[in-house]
Amino acid sequence: MQNEEISILVLYTGGTIGMMQDRATGALVPFDFGNIYKHLPVLKNFGFRIDFYSFDPLIDSSNMHPDFWVRLAQKIEEAYDSYDGFVVLHGSDTMAYTASAMSFMLENLSKPVVFTGSQLPLGMVRTDGRENFLAAIEIAAAKEDNAVVVPEVSIFFQNQLLRGNRTTKFNAENFDAFASGNFPSLAEIGVHIKYNKEKILKPNGKNLKVHTRLDRNVGILKLFPGISETFVRNILNMQDLKGLVLETFGSGNATTAPWFIDALEVAVKRGLIVLNITQCKSGAVEMGRYETSLDMARIGVVSGHDMTTESAVAKLMYLIGEGLPHDSIVDLLQTSIRGEMTI
Ligand code: ASP
Repeated sequence: MQNEEISILVLYTGGTIGMMQDRATGALVPFDFGNIYKHLPVLKNFGFRIDFYSFDPLIDSSNMHPDFWVRLAQKIEEAYDSYDGFVVLHGSDTMAYTASAMSFMLENLSKPVVFTGSQLPLGMVRTDGRENFLAAIEIAAAKEDNAVVVPEVSIFFQNQLLRGNRTTKFNAENFDAFASGNFPSLAEIGVHIKYNKEKILKPNGKNLKVHTRLDRNVGILKLFPGISETFVRNILNMQDLKGLVLETFGSGNATTAPWFIDALEVAVKRGLIVLNITQCKSGAVEMGRYETSLDMARIGVVSGHDMTTESAVAKLMYLIGEGLPHDSIVDLLQTSIRGEMTI
């Protein structure tokens, strides 16, 4: 079925999916997307117009950086009116961070931005990249009654379509590498793609607004039994630090040791925004449920509810980068602005 009116832009950032084995040396080298129809002739069967844009240089996603996020967001903005949907090919290692960042940077999104990648390169016989890539294109192009089906930033990996800012990479080996512990899949993929429509964000009818001011003065502090006072105080005293994701235990608990609460209180009074996120892959922070989080609530540590760490870091970079007043940042951190938390 020809469907020439649908157009998809594939943005290739790097990562395993874009690799193939060099016949002569056996080494993995970047795939030439100029030859994509030769390697994946089935792409023609969609009947869509599919254009490719490769970033230069291509990067392993472990080298991902907010400056790259800005380039990606700007590229989507530039091409926004010319395409029905976008597929971003990205290394899986930091895909959840980039997808989270895009969800905040692309405000009022009304078109699909589907991230995908693979555990094995596209150019390998057993690759998972082929299915991931083809399904991501189908999802990015999906329309029903002329309306876009998934107008949000999502991740497609191994038969699952997940909200980007709800996702974490949890497996370094299996094809099934991503989990969304606090939000259901946006679609189940089998013989048919069954969209979970009531869970998918609806466009708000406003024009796309791209935010590119990200503040990198944020950090993550993961608690563990025996964490030392010196270590905690050194982190909290870092001069330029403006936002800190505090990865706590269970439903947002931490040691009640007086030095810990004191160190946090001093930092919060100085203006540091401390966002409480659980180390668990599922479930939410509930400050005050146990005595071990009461003091944190009292001194102004902010509850991150059920946000992922990836989303929390990206949201802090975005909100602080916007230069909003401290109280507005604290309010917005506790509000779901892109479907990133359940309140
Ligand atoms: N290290 C690679 C990357 O994240 C792994 C992958 O592509 O899945 O770029």
